[in-house]
Amino acid sequence: MFYQRSSALFKEAQVVIPGGVNSPVRAFKAVGGTPIFAKSAKGAYIYDEDDNRFIDYINSWGPMLLGHAFSPVVEAVIDRTREGTSFGMPTALETEIAQLAVSMVPNIDKIRFVNSGTEACMSAIRLARGFTNKDKIIKFAGCYHGHSDSFLIAAGSGAVTFGTPNSPGVTQGTAKDTLLARFNNIDNVKELVAANVNEIAAIIVEPVAGNMGCIPPVAGFLEGLRSICDTNNILLIFDEVMTGFRLAKGGVQELKNVNADIVCFGKVIGGGLPVGAFAARNEIMNHLAPLGPVYQAGTLSGNPLAMAAGLAMLKAIEKDKGLMNRLEEKTKYLHNGIADALNKNNVVHTINRIGSMISVHFSDKEVVDFDSAAKGNNDTFKKFFHGMLNRGIYIAPSAFESWFITDALTYQDLNETIAAVEEIAKEL
Ligand SMILES: *Cc1c(COP(=O)(O)O)cnc(C)c1O
Repeated sequence: MFYQRSSALFKEAQVVIPGGVNSPVRAFKAVGGTPIFAKSAKGAYIYDEDDNRFIDYINSWGPMLLGHAFSPVVEAVIDRTREGTSFGMPTALETEIAQLAVSMVPNIDKIRFVNSGTEACMSAIRLARGFTNKDKIIKFAGCYHGHSDSFLIAAGSGAVTFGTPNSPGVTQGTAKDTLLARFNNIDNVKELVAANVNEIAAIIVEPVAGNMGCIPPVAGFLEGLRSICDTNNILLIFDEVMTGFRLAKGGVQELKNVNADIVCFGKVIGGGLPVGAFAARNEIMNHLAPLGPVYQAGTLSGNPLAMAAGLAMLKAIEKDKGLMNRLEEKTKYLHNGIADALNKNNVVHTINRIGSMISVHFSDKEVVDFDSAAKGNNDTFKKFFHGMLNRGIYIAPSAFESWFITDALTYQDLNETIAAVEEIAKEL
């Protein structure tokens, strides 16, 4: 494959955009080399500026559950655009998508739309703090909740110490209110809660982690969090920005039959346009302005183009009864194929999978939390990544990302992918 035009574009971009990208992981820093510049996409394929075709397993980091340029979404956006692109006034469309979302997701009465997953999570913890009148939150190492200050926190020195900022610009003052726990470790959460009695407003978790590879919750973990929250007057926030409308129509709440108090959405809910949302029962959502005192706002929130795209997407998911099964079957097929190819060539690996999320870790240990995910062999991953890229398979340029399976993938695409893995495995 040739990447001449992408390389030239990357050089130009670096002059006027920091690092040449508007979101860091796109820069290929973790894998080396030059990022490819996208030109267009349709279905399961993405085409770059050099006219290379890739089978896409990133899918815009999740939103394109039904493939790129999905016709109902494209048509909805084009139709809406002709009627005006933003009003700063309420529209009937916002109520329509809110009604549909509330009907699909368990345990929520009201939903507020924002412009990104970051905004959704940031607003959810403000709401939780306002509702409980407490300041601290617990998050899990390796879970990602967007780039707002409260979440850019690394673990402190001991299990029960405060977090420390992991980006310059995040203040100690903010860091002291975020406590770090280990994913899938309920005892660790109990310790933190015991050491901070009556101070914790919320526990926020990716109920299926997707930002350290894909890591499903171990049996009892989500139930354990639910019960800790119930006994300590703590709100449980499920960050379903990645899993919402993907692992089940109602997200992980439905899949695992555990209720959260606040749920955050993004990615799929916008059908590829910038949308986030957070939702809860009336009792909690009524604390939000203008009904209640917790402030939250947005000039472009509920934007008609974004809502049209999201509505078309959710309608398609809602009416397609076989969708989740098909996605899971494809993912399972890919899992088996990749595992066979790697095993045949004695490549040490662990594959995690749930629904349409899957990740390949070059590690012989189970991957259940951030520490075990970090033990994967990054050199092997780099070779794997570039081997796949050069064979026209686009996976995330980082060992800490899930692959996203889209319904647009055919079994021929999957076979092509498995064949590529088999070739690469011989060189690993
Ligand atoms: C992507 C993601 C976010 C952040 O969403 P943005 O739209 O990138 O701001 C938050 N939480 C989770 C779980 C995510 O996967």
